[in-house]
Amino acid sequence: MRYDELFLYGVKQLEKAGIAEGKLNARLLLEYVCKTDRNTLLAHPELLVEKEQEKRYVNLIEQRAERIPLQHITGVQEFMGLEFYVNQNVLIPRQDTEILVEEVMPHLHDGMSILDMCTGSGCILISLMQYSNDCAGVGADLSDEALEVAEKNARRILKEKNIHVKSGFKDLKEAKEVKEAVFPVQNEIRFLQGDLFEALDLGEKTAVKFDIIVSNPPYISTDTIKTLEPEVAVYEPLTALDGGQDGLYFYRRIVKDAKKCLVRGGKLFFEIGFDQKEAVSQLLKEAGFIDIETKKDYAGLDRVVFGTFLED
Ligand code: GLN
Repeated sequence: MRYDELFLYGVKQLEKAGIAEGKLNARLLLEYVCKTDRNTLLAHPELLVEKEQEKRYVNLIEQRAERIPLQHITGVQEFMGLEFYVNQNVLIPRQDTEILVEEVMPHLHDGMSILDMCTGSGCILISLMQYSNDCAGVGADLSDEALEVAEKNARRILKEKNIHVKSGFKDLKEAKEVKEAVFPVQNEIRFLQGDLFEALDLGEKTAVKFDIIVSNPPYISTDTIKTLEPEVAVYEPLTALDGGQDGLYFYRRIVKDAKKCLVRGGKLFFEIGFDQKEAVSQLLKEAGFIDIETKKDYAGLDRVVFGTFLED
C-alpha cells in the first residue's frame, strides 16, 4: 500500500476510537514502523510500504485504538531534548514537567547535590545532571520497577558525561565506615527504593543533606483519576498519580521530612496541579520555608512552587 494511504487508514481508525490527536499519532506510528520522518508524508506520499511493515503498522494502530499510550508502543518519550525509555511502570514524562526542570536550573550550581523524590522514569534528575557539572544525584521511589527504568535511562543518557550510576546502598553498607562524606557523591547518581525519605535511611545515624530537593509527586485526588482519559487512568501506574483524597498527601509528607535533609539555604521545588498553588505554598510557609515562589506553565496554569529552607 502507498505511504499516504496507510496513513489515512491509521487516522480513520484512531479517530473512530475517539483519539483527539489521531492524525499526529497515526503519522508518528507510521514513521516509527517505516523508520521515516515527518517529511516523508509531504515529500514521498507515493512511497510503497512493504507488506511486513504494513502488517506491523495495522497491528500498532489496533493497539493505539485500544487507548494504549503511544509512548508505551514506541517505548520512548522525549524530555528536555533527551530520549527517555518508558514502560507501564513509570509516569510518561510530561512537557509541563520541563517547567519544573527549567525553574531548578538557575539555582543549580556546579558541584551541588540534588534529591529527586518520586523519581519515576528519572526524567527530572537525569536532565538536571545532564545540564550541570559535578553534581551529586539521588533519585528515590517506592517502586522497584520504576527504579529499573530510571537506572536504565541514567546509564544510557549520562554515559557521555562519565556519571556513575548506582542503585541501593549495598556498596556503602559494605564499606567499613558510613560517613556523611561518602553520600551523596559528586558525578554519581544513585537510585534508592523506599517510602519517601525512608529510602535514604542508611541504617546509621547519617545526616544526609542536599542543596536541592525536587519532586513531582503523585498529586491527583483519588476521585479525579477515574475521570481522566483511558491512556492515563488505565495504562499509567496508579501509584504515580494518586495523591489521596485531596491530592496533597505527598506534599504534606515531603515538606515535613525535606527540612531534615536540606542544607541551610537549600531549596525545595515541587510540581503542582493547576489548583494546588495556595495549599502547597501554605504547607511550605507553615514549615518555615521562605521566599516562596510559584511559576505557571505555557498553558497559563500554576505548575511549580518552590521555597528556601533556612532553619527550624
Ligand atoms: N518524577 C517523575 C516525573 O515527573 C514521576 C512523577 C510521578 O510518578 N508522580 O515524570
